[in-house]
Amino acid sequence: MLEAIDLTKRYDEVHALDGFSLQVAAGEIVGLVGHNGAGKTTFVDMVSGLLQPDSGEVLINGRPPTQTRGEIGISPQHIALYRPLTVREHLSLYGRLAGLRGAALRNEIEDLAIALQLTGFLDRRAGLLSGGQQRRTQAATALIHRPSLLLMDEPTAGADPQTREALLDVVKQRAGEGAAVVYTTHYLNELADLRATIAVASQGKVIARGSSAELLDGLPGEVLLTAGADQVRVSTTDPTATLLELIKNARQPVESVELRNPSLDDLYRSLAASDVH
Ligand code: ATP
Repeated sequence: MLEAIDLTKRYDEVHALDGFSLQVAAGEIVGLVGHNGAGKTTFVDMVSGLLQPDSGEVLINGRPPTQTRGEIGISPQHIALYRPLTVREHLSLYGRLAGLRGAALRNEIEDLAIALQLTGFLDRRAGLLSGGQQRRTQAATALIHRPSLLLMDEPTAGADPQTREALLDVVKQRAGEGAAVVYTTHYLNELADLRATIAVASQGKVIARGSSAELLDGLPGEVLLTAGADQVRVSTTDPTATLLELIKNARQPVESVELRNPSLDDLYRSLAASDVH
């Protein structure tokens, strides 16, 4: 559905994209992760047609972004709402730009308002909304025309748990209906919730791609056990077995245990290490 082939983009000596390739199938959610500056937003901007690559190609259903504007929904990293317009006016504007009219437009607005918990704010101006309400409104502008490609660039940045859950539910639902989704985030647990496949970007290219099981299984997590004055922290690929062993050998009553699954940082570290060898 989305095919990005060997994209490059250079700003003076900075290689923002340096051979960036990624394919996303219809109905697939790809979690695009990577350190700050890895090239994620540059890639999203290129797919949305805002930026031209120096070389390489983006194809959406076999056509370039300039010919597929109505098929793309974009929720940008930074909130970009018109402060004097209400939420309903935003959704109406974006829906109309995509060709929705009359009852079809009204129905989409109602459905999205329910899904994204905006019913109480539909007639409030964007400039008067809270940060979380603005986030949900921003996402709604990307979703109103039921695009076949959704580009969500850190859509939950600064969002509270309720906003995050509503956003993730809608994204899952749209993927279930066949949309291809590129979802950039710094939160691994969101990708688990979305059952997303993962693409790791580093220095302008995708350096690892696969299911979370393929990329994360076998990476060490951590077990932290406190027993009286003793505190033990162990890095392990089998937290449950390690925890049982630690409890068995504890010399004082166990007060607390903490299990930490592998994090994105663990993944980046292991990829960096395998790059060196
Ligand atoms: P973050 O997680 O912080 O959002 P990112 O992965 O989205 O980061 P990009 O915003 O794509 O990263 O930036 C990739 C690189 O390109 C960075 O080094 C950035 O400074 C540089 N860059 C991006 N846009 C420009 C620009 N217009 N002019 C110069 N350099 C740029």
